Amino acid sequence: MGPSICGKCYEVGDDVYREVVDKFPNAASITPKGTLSLDLAGALKELLSGYGVEVVRAQSCTVEDRSLFSYRRDGITGRFAGIISL
Ligand SMILES: [Zn+2]
Repeated sequence: MGPSICGKCYEVGDDVYREVVDKFPNAASITPKGTLSLDLAGALKELLSGYGVEVVRAQSCTVEDRSLFSYRRDGITGRFAGIISL
């Protein structure tokens, strides 16, 4: 799994938090200031691992690592592409 926003940085409102966590309890997280957040990559890793998929996750957070694109951090849109090969 490539870099993504981490559970400490992906602050969401109560409505989004409840909708996601009801379906994916492992997504529950909290920011350093104590507000609700989601760890989507962590939840996806747990889900895939449950199917026997070996997951290697990049530890970089796109908000914290300024060398990575983050709309949430910068508020500027961008474009990127990913290529997957099996
Ligand atoms: Zn982060």
